[in-house]
Amino acid sequence: MPTVLTNIGQLASARAELSAKDAGLVADAALAWADTGRILFAGRAADLPHDLRSAPTIDARGATVIPGLVDCHTHLAFAGWRADEFTLRCRGAEYAEIAARGGGILRTVKATRAASEDDLVQRARGFLSAMLGVGVTTVECKSGYGLTLDDELKLLRVYQQMRPDFTGTLVSTFLGAHVVPPEFRDNRTAYIHLVCDQMIPRVAAEKLAGFCDVFVENGAFTPDEARQVFAVSKAHGLRPKLHVDQLADGGGAALAAEVGAISAEHLEFASDDGLWGMAAAGVVAVLLPIAALYLNKPPLDARRCFALGVPVAVATDFNPGSAPSYHLPFAMTLACTMNRMTPAQALRGATIVAARAIGLESELGSLEPGKRADFVLLDAESVEHWLYQLRPNAVVGVYAAGRRVA
Ligand SMILES: [Zn+2]
Repeated sequence: MPTVLTNIGQLASARAELSAKDAGLVADAALAWADTGRILFAGRAADLPHDLRSAPTIDARGATVIPGLVDCHTHLAFAGWRADEFTLRCRGAEYAEIAARGGGILRTVKATRAASEDDLVQRARGFLSAMLGVGVTTVECKSGYGLTLDDELKLLRVYQQMRPDFTGTLVSTFLGAHVVPPEFRDNRTAYIHLVCDQMIPRVAAEKLAGFCDVFVENGAFTPDEARQVFAVSKAHGLRPKLHVDQLADGGGAALAAEVGAISAEHLEFASDDGLWGMAAAGVVAVLLPIAALYLNKPPLDARRCFALGVPVAVATDFNPGSAPSYHLPFAMTLACTMNRMTPAQALRGATIVAARAIGLESELGSLEPGKRADFVLLDAESVEHWLYQLRPNAVVGVYAAGRRVA
């Protein structure tokens, strides 16, 4: 039996074929879905097909309805926090300086190695349910705080354990090449071999991840090391993703195009040539404005990406260092004010374009027939008003595959 959501004040379909600036807004709308959890209709209430007019209804009471949000870049499972580093940064310490003093990513690695799989599951579940509460129904989660074979597998198994109980969608990314762990500091080559010869084959054999990410930056990995990792990951069916050009232009955008990455993230210092290459190769640029805000770094002007034809997504980068917030609507408002996106572009960036960044654009990310009925009801008169007047939480209902989950 289908269900129809009626009395929708504004519906944002974010349909894939619309232009980057078009959120697909429809006033006085209705949304219908089948028992299978698939959308049957999304559009003007007046156009609702006759066979759906006698179906049971739910009154949206004038709410704005958007697709379930897609956070396409998080480091969801980790142990410990690093609030003291936040204070150090507020006093003027640089990210690289904190890392050199034993803080930063390696501190989280130490804590995460010491944590049990069960403890990590418990904690990540809490984050995930809070994310659902702000309208996020699909989450990409990375490893990268283990950096040994066993600890990287442990992190990816955390996500695998969470998947059956999560009503939304979880996608995993292997990030063994996050930073070089201390025990390999004097032998980087050996660590790259460990990633390529042991970690990737196990991750692929156990189907623990769909993507392979590399952090290319001073203090992390070089473009050549990334090429080695991707040569192996692609042979094992793991598509490349990249953290690049966050602190300096390291040629990361061009590298993303060269290796056929599905997405490249950060990009604050990416060159126009690099972005042009990404456009030609169809690589999604993922903006992480919360990280730029916390690190007090100049944000990327998204209009440069749009002018060159690069699709732009927005994500939180949720992690205990540079982006300790999992509030995707907050990131979307920042994408408007810091990255110069319009609310419509930010909405597409956190729905259909984000879905493309994790290879799920034909399954979810927009409200159109055939897709998963993942949607969010907002107590706001429009998408524009929602992102303009940022409130702790304007979400009044969250549905995943047609079932109310928050
Ligand atoms: Zn990240």
